[in-house]
Amino acid sequence: MRDVALSVYVAVVAARLGLSWLNLRHLTRRGHEVPAELRGEVDAEKLRKMSDYTAERARFGLVHAVASALVTGAFLFGGGLGAYDRWVQSLSGSFVGSGVLFVVGLLVAGAVLEVPFQLYGDFRIEQRHGFNRQTAGLWWSDWLKSTALSLVLTGLLAAGALALVRAAPGTWWLWVTALVAGVGLLMNFLSPYVIEPLFNKMEPLEVSGLSEGIRAMTEKAGVHLGRVLKVDASRRSSHSNAYFTGLGRVKRVVLFDTLLSQMSHAQILAVLAHELGHWKKHHVLVRMLVMLALLVGAAYLAFTLVPSPAVPGLVGLSAASFPSRVVVLMVAASSLSFPLTPLFSAWSRRDEREADRFAVDLHGHAGDLADALAKLGTENLSNLHPHPLYAKFYYSHPPLVERIGTLRALV
Ligand SMILES: [Zn+2]
Repeated sequence: MRDVALSVYVAVVAARLGLSWLNLRHLTRRGHEVPAELRGEVDAEKLRKMSDYTAERARFGLVHAVASALVTGAFLFGGGLGAYDRWVQSLSGSFVGSGVLFVVGLLVAGAVLEVPFQLYGDFRIEQRHGFNRQTAGLWWSDWLKSTALSLVLTGLLAAGALALVRAAPGTWWLWVTALVAGVGLLMNFLSPYVIEPLFNKMEPLEVSGLSEGIRAMTEKAGVHLGRVLKVDASRRSSHSNAYFTGLGRVKRVVLFDTLLSQMSHAQILAVLAHELGHWKKHHVLVRMLVMLALLVGAAYLAFTLVPSPAVPGLVGLSAASFPSRVVVLMVAASSLSFPLTPLFSAWSRRDEREADRFAVDLHGHAGDLADALAKLGTENLSNLHPHPLYAKFYYSHPPLVERIGTLRALV
C-alpha cells in the first residue's frame, strides 16, 4: 500500500513541477513579444520588467515547491508522522487534548518552515521589483499576529470537532460539518470588524465624485451599499485591488489606496462593476453552496475511512491516532483530486467572463474595464505569456491578453 501511495504522491508532485517548468520555459521563449492587445500600454522596456519579475517569481516558486514536496514527503513516508504521533501521545492521554496538540504542533512547524521562503519572496523579489514597502518590523508583527490567530482559531475548532467525535461516534460527520460551516460563516461576518482591523486601517472613502459614483452604480444594480472604505494597503505593498464584502443584504466596498492612485474614477467604477457582477450573478452564493456540499462529502468520507487499517498502511504505519489518520486522508484527497483542478479553474473562468459582461452592461463602457485591467496587469507585473496548458489548469481568470482582447472587441 505504501509503495502505491508514494508513487501517486510522486506522480502528482512531478505533474505540478512539470506544469510550472513548462510555464517558465514558455515565458523565457516568448516573454519579449509585446501582445497586440497591449501595444498602447506596454513597450519593450516595460515588458522586460514584467517578464523578469514573473520569471523570478516562477523560478523561486519551483524551488519552494520542490522543498515543500521533499519535506512533506519525507515526513509522511519516511517515518516522521509515526514518530511525531507517538511523541504527542506521550504528552497527553486525553483524546481531545492530544488531538489539539497534534494539530497545533503541525501548524507551528509549517509556519516556521515557511518563514525563510516568505522573507525571501517579500524582501528580495518584491523589493528588487519595487513592490515591497513594509519594514522588517511590520513584517514580523504581521507574522506573529496571523500565526497566533490561526493557532488559536484552528486549535479551538479542532477541540470542538474532536469533542463532537467523542460525543457522537456514530454521527459525528454531520455535527463536524455543521461546526465547520457555522464557524466559517461567522468568520465571514466578523472578519471585517474583528480581524481586518488587526492588520489594516480602514477609513471612509472621501474622494468627491467617486463615492457618489459608486453608490449610484450599486443602486442601479439593485445592491444595498453600506460603507465605502479605503484601506491603507500601501504600507505593505504597491500591489492593488478592490472588493465587495458582506454576506447579508448590505454590502461594503473596500478599495486599496494603491488603486486610487493608479486609476481614473471611470476605471475604478468599471472594476467595481465587475465585482458587483459576481454578487448579482450569484457566483459567491453558488460557490459557498458547492463548498458546503464538498465539506459534507469530505466529512462523510473521513467518517467511513478513518477506522480502516488501510489508512495508516498508506504511509507504512501499523497504528496511528485519529488526527494522524485524518492528516493522511487529507494528503491523499489533495493528491487524488489534483486531476480535477482544471475543472474548477474552467468554472471560475466562466464566472469571470460572465462578470466582465455584466460589468460592461452596467457600467456602459467596455473600454474602461479593458483599460483598468491593462493597468492592473501592468502595474502588478502580470504574466502576459502563460503556457496555454498551465493557464487551462490553474488560471482562475482568463489570461489577461485574452480578457482585454474580448473587451476591446466590444468597444
Ligand atoms: Zn472577478
